[in-house]
Amino acid sequence: MKPLSSYLSGRWIDGSGAPQTLVNPATEEPLAQVTSDGLDLAAALGYARDKGGPALRALSFAERGALLKEMAKAIQAHRDELLDLAVANGGNTRSDAKFDVDGAIFTLQTFAEVGEKLGTAKTLIDGEGVQLGRSPRFHGQHVCVPRHGVAVHINAFNFPAWGLAEKAASALLAGMPVLAKPATSSAMVAHRAMEILVEKKVLPDGALSVLVGAPRHLAALLGSQDVLAFTGSGDTGARIRALPNIIQESVRVNIEADSLNAALLGPDVEPGSDMYETFLKDVLRDMTQKAGQKCTAIRRVLVPGEKAATVRDDLAEGLKAVRVGNPALEETRMGPLANGAQLADVREGVGRLSAEGKAAFGSAAPIAGKGFFVSPVLVEFAKDALAASVHAREIFGPVASLLPYSGRGSDAAEIVARGNGCLVSSVYSEDAEFLQEAVLGIAPYNGRIFLGHPKIEMSPGPGTVLPQLTHGGPGRAGGGEELGGARSLAFYMQRVALEGSRPVIQKLLGVQPA
Ligand code: NAP
Repeated sequence: MKPLSSYLSGRWIDGSGAPQTLVNPATEEPLAQVTSDGLDLAAALGYARDKGGPALRALSFAERGALLKEMAKAIQAHRDELLDLAVANGGNTRSDAKFDVDGAIFTLQTFAEVGEKLGTAKTLIDGEGVQLGRSPRFHGQHVCVPRHGVAVHINAFNFPAWGLAEKAASALLAGMPVLAKPATSSAMVAHRAMEILVEKKVLPDGALSVLVGAPRHLAALLGSQDVLAFTGSGDTGARIRALPNIIQESVRVNIEADSLNAALLGPDVEPGSDMYETFLKDVLRDMTQKAGQKCTAIRRVLVPGEKAATVRDDLAEGLKAVRVGNPALEETRMGPLANGAQLADVREGVGRLSAEGKAAFGSAAPIAGKGFFVSPVLVEFAKDALAASVHAREIFGPVASLLPYSGRGSDAAEIVARGNGCLVSSVYSEDAEFLQEAVLGIAPYNGRIFLGHPKIEMSPGPGTVLPQLTHGGPGRAGGGEELGGARSLAFYMQRVALEGSRPVIQKLLGVQPA
């Protein structure tokens, strides 16, 4: 069986001790073994800081952008191989796998363009300079410089390629070296992507390292110039945030965690209309793509009470057509969950949800045979969705709740707010008054709001994270913010306010006097 090494301190290196076995979640066939025991994590972080940091900081934004372009090209050249691995080790259908791998390539390309636009500078000038005294001579200017530490990226199991690429793109462009830790159960895609980048010698020595296997004490080794970007469960995120070094050294932490995303159907949308079909399509796609293991997937479906039965029947009809099975088979539309622990967690969550609501489609009953399969599940609630479980726990699988509401935007917003923070919610309506109330009402509880419309060509729906817009949400969602084009660089840079003589500052920064 293939042992997966880590790439640390500029070389491939194996851990020692009892390995963890990675399996195909559809067949439970063992695929690879991994252990990070015994690896010198402190030395690996030191290598990234001392070698990768200076090498990246010596480059301009455009040059760092060019590196991202090469990364995208290298991954593109091995796309089919990575898709096959995502099917085998991630339980992805081919379409799910493309979502991950193509998302990685697109994000790297987008950030390569951001770098090209930022040009030959190595320092970001942040906003206009300001006059501070009576005369223009006393001047202030904010600038951002790369931090002198290492960016540690801890990723969830669901997007091994995109997760690696989207975080690395911002950090490398900002001028910070990266040590990435993919989730262990689906690490084969990220591991192979790293092999490809190393084989092609795309990046300077020390700029990108990958730890495969348990994180051990990695987060506890970070200091004041380092940053930590984490994607995963809220519980793990909270544990990381509470580490003494994270508090004492003010280590910058970004957390992308759980989310109870909502989809709102407006009172003006009639069943059978184009808007209604767009809404149904988005909910069905989000529930079943990647077997619902998307942090942005729709979990709560809010519909005006009088249309709830129609929506329920139409969603149930759509879910019935989803063929669940081994993603290696062409006819399969939804694969298994990523691992046994996720299956147990989803079953437990559906049990709680069903105790308060009524199963409208599917159940968490075991599916005979090998693999971590579960049916899509829609649970219907009769009255205004007070049920605690709906708003208290993210079920990371193909599961959604159908919640009736009055049809008023302010009532819908109040229900969305009970989820205590979402990455994204979607609204389907053309009623101006409803949109005003609903969109502005849910805005403080969301990182992104998707306004669904049938005229948007090739709409990706709310579940797709685009690199041009920020990704993250308040409260339960972790309070983080990633991506968003050049905005994302701020996390990896120190903003410093320069104040002094205007000509001196302008000369220092290479700014032409006005
Ligand atoms: P997880 O158990 O929190 O693991 C996430 C990552 O953290 C993995 O790489 C894991 O490594 C690592 N990890 C675990 N314990 C750690 C610790 N004490 N210190 C540092 N790192 C640690 O979550 P998961 O099972 O991968 O994902 C499940 C949950 O993540 C879902 O239920 C969902 O709520 C959430 N999620 C959120 C997003 C988002 O963008 N907001 C995306 C995907 C998933 P190992 O794999 O080696 O244990």
